[in-house]
Amino acid sequence: MGIYSQIKEQVSTREVAEHYGYKVNRNGMMRCLFHDDRNPSMKVDQNFICFGCQEKGDVIRFASKLFGLPAYEAAGKLIEDMGLTVSLENKPDVRPGIHKIAQLKRQDEARFRQTVDRVYNVYCDYFHLLNEWACCGKL
Ligand SMILES: [Zn+2]
Repeated sequence: MGIYSQIKEQVSTREVAEHYGYKVNRNGMMRCLFHDDRNPSMKVDQNFICFGCQEKGDVIRFASKLFGLPAYEAAGKLIEDMGLTVSLENKPDVRPGIHKIAQLKRQDEARFRQTVDRVYNVYCDYFHLLNEWACCGKL
């Protein structure tokens, strides 16, 4: 089975839209990606169809439009971002997209802040300990 079929088996267009923060209302409608849509006129479920501009397609086409990537690269991005499993011999090379880079940067920043907090706490503890010792006349 090709990777597109494997992806479509595992994830719906609606899940992908919601994963990337698009609001899908109770009726499964969201604002169209293909035309300037003020009111939600795109129906998303397994596939998508827009009642405004008549665009329709599957999750691969949706992702391709969403990220401005060729279908094959969009597929690779979906596999990575949605944590999908596809058979390896068909797996495309995944180059980090802009989203991925931003995500990595956020992770680095968080890790850096955690380290600073930890070091700061150690120094604070040490400082308090010295104060206690000074008070008790141990120094
Ligand atoms: Zn449309």
